[in-house]
Amino acid sequence: MIICQTRTELKHTLQNHEYAFVPTMGNLHAGHLSLIDEAKKYSKNVIVSIFVNPAQFAPHEDFSSYPRTLENDIKLLKNSGVEIVYTPQIEEIYPNKTTIKFDIPHLTQCLCGKSRPHFFSGVMAVLLQFYLHIKPQYMILGEKDYQQFLVVKEMAMSLNLEMKVVSSPIIRDSAGLALSSRNSYLSAYDLQRARQINKILTQSNKLQTVDEILKFCTTELNQIVDKIDYLEIRNNNLELAHIKEKAKNCRIFFAGFIGKTRLIDNIQT
Ligand code: AMP
Repeated sequence: MIICQTRTELKHTLQNHEYAFVPTMGNLHAGHLSLIDEAKKYSKNVIVSIFVNPAQFAPHEDFSSYPRTLENDIKLLKNSGVEIVYTPQIEEIYPNKTTIKFDIPHLTQCLCGKSRPHFFSGVMAVLLQFYLHIKPQYMILGEKDYQQFLVVKEMAMSLNLEMKVVSSPIIRDSAGLALSSRNSYLSAYDLQRARQINKILTQSNKLQTVDEILKFCTTELNQIVDKIDYLEIRNNNLELAHIKEKAKNCRIFFAGFIGKTRLIDNIQT
């Protein structure tokens, strides 16, 4: 496994191969490793990036406290069959101070985009840079961030990037909590509360209509989390489901706070 810290090093390391690329912000867990396994289905040459992307954090968010565990991440990756790890510094990705804003309004202005208006522009900016540095044929993204997957897929199609954007299922702990680097912010008590979120979403899936599911989840989640950011049912293209409809082939999308920690989840109905 080769570790490249600069674009120049990367340029010299890349062969004329097909690459499957897994972008991450590090603090790797089994969710990230599952993306690497998925990537191997597309190419035997897998590249992982580790970069905490300042452009996707608002000033009041957790950029400075985001868990950075590079040494441990590298150890994990050494056993995972990854060929190249790219760990650029900020200047490598954002060489000047100009900020380009990206928007795909029908996908970026709801759900996470509503409460974090800077977020998807920052995600698109960084992933476009990574695309230009690596030119991978495949990019693998987790369904935990389902909206992000759709946004990046749409960006790749709109800009005619020669890259297929692939999604991979959510990996959860034994209690159903979606694995996330931000789970490490939770105290033991808060972790127990966080573990109720998916249980509630899953229980609600037995109900029929959008309206019934939303009412049940709102009541139950309000007893567990400190604040619901959003709770919505949308189809797989993010179109809002009508409240009287049966919630079939949709997703229940949740974001909320436990203390200061913002957690997201979604399940297919
Ligand atoms: P992050 O490091 O949090 O930016 O995540 C990097 C990639 O890993 C994104 O494509 C995420 O959607 C994906 N990911 C994070 N957590 C999980 C999980 N529990 N299951 C599957 N994919 C995940």
